[in-house]
Amino acid sequence: MRICRFNDNRIGVVRGDKVHDVTSILDRLEPVRYPAPVSDRLIANLDAWRADIEKLADKGQTFDAASVRFLSPVANPSKIIGVPTNYQAHRAEMAADTTIEHRNRGERDSSSGVQTVLDQGFFLKANSSLVGPSEGVKLRFPDRRNDHEAELGLVIGKRGSDIAEKDALDYVVGYAMALDMVVRGKEDRSFRKSIDTYSVLGPWLVTKDEIADPETLDFSLWVNDDLRQKSNTSDMIMKVRQQIALASSFYTLLPGDIIMTGTCSGVGRVAPGDVMTFEMQGIGRMQIPVMANG
Ligand code: MN
Repeated sequence: MRICRFNDNRIGVVRGDKVHDVTSILDRLEPVRYPAPVSDRLIANLDAWRADIEKLADKGQTFDAASVRFLSPVANPSKIIGVPTNYQAHRAEMAADTTIEHRNRGERDSSSGVQTVLDQGFFLKANSSLVGPSEGVKLRFPDRRNDHEAELGLVIGKRGSDIAEKDALDYVVGYAMALDMVVRGKEDRSFRKSIDTYSVLGPWLVTKDEIADPETLDFSLWVNDDLRQKSNTSDMIMKVRQQIALASSFYTLLPGDIIMTGTCSGVGRVAPGDVMTFEMQGIGRMQIPVMANG
């Protein structure tokens, strides 16, 4: 199943080039009392409600997918986890260009060059940076270098801590394309990657039953007509299961948590007026406009 959030916070099931409105599934959510749970309540129930969501889709109002505005399929993650330097070719381009990751200047040694995720662990991006593709990326500092990072996004479906690698995929509800946008510079990475709109997820969540192996997916990103990034998730240094195990050894994973699994080589600058096109095998295609903030 492909589930999306679209237009004015409507929920849809995507079948072919149509979006079937299933927003009434939200009527099942209990009224929120203070404090609201720190997780995504729809994602938490996705497996349990799936059969009923499919039935609603059979009879719901339909929209052309080309005509709707896609928001992030996850509305309320408790955290967005970033995985740094997780493709060897990206590590090599970082070694060749110190403007990509300034902090790595002090974290290199002569034998191994730029450190990888295996040394660095993860970082967090602010939840308030999360948008869907139709909202676009808004550059606050267009005079600085703002880069795209195309990545596979994992969405966690149930609570877990100290998850074993062999069980890790049990905690995944589905996958989406993820853009880990960044303004390059000397500030802390989390600060530079947490600007509003610098985390893009979409265009929908594909439930994990539709993707037999998340580690064999081709993906490509273009800026306008220029192919910038092209790789396959098989090139990850730290694999998906190990990412989930490591993340959950530090913090409890909650429904709706997003892991952005790292980018391949070819990261590059975008400017207002550009349009990014991102395709991933098994998920689909999305276009993300780039604009100046304000
Ligand atoms: Mn990244």
